[in-house]
Order: sequence, then structure tokens, then C-alpha cells
Amino acid sequence: MEFKINSVPMAERRPKPEDESKLGFGKIYSDHMFTMKWTQEMGWSAPTVGKFEPLTLSPAALVLHYGQTIFEGLKAYPNQDGTINLFRAEDNCSRFNRSAARLDLPLLDQGVMLEAIEALLELDHEWMPRSHGTSLYIRPTMIATEPYIGLKSASEVLFFIITGPVGAYYPEGFNPVKIIVSEEYSRAGPGGLGAVKTAANYAASLLAEKEAIRAGYTQVLWLDAAERKFIEEVGAMNILFKIGGKVVSPPPGGTILDGITRDSVLKLLRSWDVPVEEYRLTIGEVIEAQANGTLEEVFGAGTAAVISPVGHLHYQDRTYEIGGGQIGPLSLKLFDELMGIQYGSRPDPFNWIREVAPAGMKQTPARESASTQLAMAKP
Ligand SMILES: *Cc1c(COP(=O)(O)O)cnc(C)c1O
Repeated sequence: MEFKINSVPMAERRPKPEDESKLGFGKIYSDHMFTMKWTQEMGWSAPTVGKFEPLTLSPAALVLHYGQTIFEGLKAYPNQDGTINLFRAEDNCSRFNRSAARLDLPLLDQGVMLEAIEALLELDHEWMPRSHGTSLYIRPTMIATEPYIGLKSASEVLFFIITGPVGAYYPEGFNPVKIIVSEEYSRAGPGGLGAVKTAANYAASLLAEKEAIRAGYTQVLWLDAAERKFIEEVGAMNILFKIGGKVVSPPPGGTILDGITRDSVLKLLRSWDVPVEEYRLTIGEVIEAQANGTLEEVFGAGTAAVISPVGHLHYQDRTYEIGGGQIGPLSLKLFDELMGIQYGSRPDPFNWIREVAPAGMKQTPARESASTQLAMAKP
């Protein structure tokens, strides 16, 4: 597919952030964005890489009233040799299409989506931060733009991709989080949208997250909506438990998002001969394992944090300290291995990395920044 490239003149490009230790997450955007339109009659048209700028949208656009929007979140990492590493981007593209199908939005050619990401990396490679732990976050999104006050599937949509530099998720080191089981709210129900990266799921979770933070926890652990018994996932992470030497993880699909980080964790564990079981475990089972001393580690897995060790778990008026509130050895090993693959310092036996080398990019090797050194992650 031919992309129209309207590159922003050099003089109009915004200054890049100077201090990579203060990037944070989601607040800074690169100069360019990719857009492409779809209509029922014409299919996809006008793929364009142009200036990052506000969208013009009718106040009657379907997305604003009925929530037809899906997104993806993936990262490009600065490679040791100065190129850029995309991690399992093909899997994000196929998940995007599964999300589109569930919301009756049009499917996208996955090759075009990957090409669009690479075209953005080509133009905006200077936005790629270079210190270890930082990355360029990529957010593909689809919205129903058709103006219509009435519930229907869209016959006009916009697909766009924006990117922006993000900081190390653990600038002060790799720290265990405190999570609380929600007994009052549900995130997703059977037959609903739980497995889809769509706005509705996150809107449904916000109040519970705020109440959790107010009570001193970082995130909410969701149970199944029907029986409030089976463990589902955390905010924007899948969850895994190490119980009596085995790693247990609730199977995705249905009400649980099929995380790519979770899948990578399971593939690594199997390759290390760590026993893995995927089944719907209950909160009762976890509390019992804690009581009899077999609950060794609990950790979340997702693109933003990669691995997030859980130090405290609150359920029904009791707070349980897991593994002495410390980072477990397996959580740390997984974190180091995944980061090593993503940043190109370790071999990539599963072929997860797609290396991109933008023309004109200064191939300066990634550097270690004092505030983001992995060494700090060691307990
Ligand atoms: C994105 C997301 C995840 C993690 O998926 P990754 O592909 O590993 O980033 C898990 N749960 C929810 C609800 C999510 O939105």
C-alpha cells in the first residue's frame, strides 16, 4: 500500500525531551501520526503519515455515544547496536483484528499495520529514547467516526497510530506492588468484552481503581463477575501465581485479556522446565496456599511494567504478605530475561524481535543511565 507522507518541516518539529529519567508514561507524543479512513463503500483509503494534531470529529460521531473504539499498546526498544527492536508486534496486530471483529469494526491488513508502524519509526526515530528501561510506546487505535445518533455498527471509521517516548516503569528500582481484591465491582462478564482492548473495560474499572488507591493499594485484582470466586486479572496486566513450585495462570479469552507478555512468560517458563498450569484458580485456593506456606510468588505481566511483583494482597479485611513482601527470584529472572530480549542484550530464541533500522538514523548504541540501571532491580 502506498502511504502519503506529509512530513513535518524540520523547523516545526517539537523539541525532544532532554532528561530521559523524567519521561513518565503517556504524556509526550512524537511529531507524526498515521491515519487511514474506512467506509463501507470504499474500504480503506488515504493512508497518511502526517503531523500529530487534533482530530476533527462530529459531536454525533458514533464512538462518542456508543463506545466503538479499540486500541493496542506495544513498545519499540532501543537495541544495543543502535537499531530499534519491535517486540512481538505481529501479535499486537492480530489481537487488534480480534478486537475489531468483536466490536463489528472493519479488519485491517496486518502487513499494512506493521508498515505503518515502521513508517512512523522511520520519521520519528529521533523520539526514541536511548537509556535502558525507556522505550517508544506505540498506540494503534480505531474509532467509529460516522455521525449518527442511533445505535448501529459504523460505516465510517478512522484508524490512527500515535507514538511517544516513555520512561523506565521502575525509575527507583523494581518494587513489589500492593493489590486489593474487588468484591463490589466487576470488570467484565461472560459473553462481554473482557478479552477485547476496548475503552468500556477501562471505564468500568476506574472507580474501583480510585477506591483502591485511596485505601493504599496500587491496583485492583478482579474476580469473575458471576461467582466472585475465580481470579481474572489486574488493571492492565495478567496475573500469575507460583504455588508449590508450579506457576498457575487463569486462561485468557472470554473475560480475560490475552496478554502477549503473559504468553511470553509461559513460553519462557516452559523452556526452563518450570511446571505451568493454566486453569481457573479461585481466590480461596490462593489464600489457602498462603496459609499453608506454599504460595511462593505472585506477579503481574503486561507491556507497560513487563513484570510486576506483588508484595501484598488484600482480601476480605485481611492483608497477606507474599514472599515476605520481597521480589521473588522467578519474577526477577523473568523480568531480566524479557528485558534482555527486548533490548537486544540476550538471545531471542523465540523470534520475538523484529529489528528496524531507519535510514538516516544515527546508530548510537543504547546507553545505561544511572537512574534506570537494571542492577537497581536486584533486591
Ligand atoms: C493490555 C492488557 C494486558 C496485557 O497485555 P500485554 O499484551 O501483555 O500488554 C492485560 N490485561 C488487560 C486488561 C490489558 O488491557
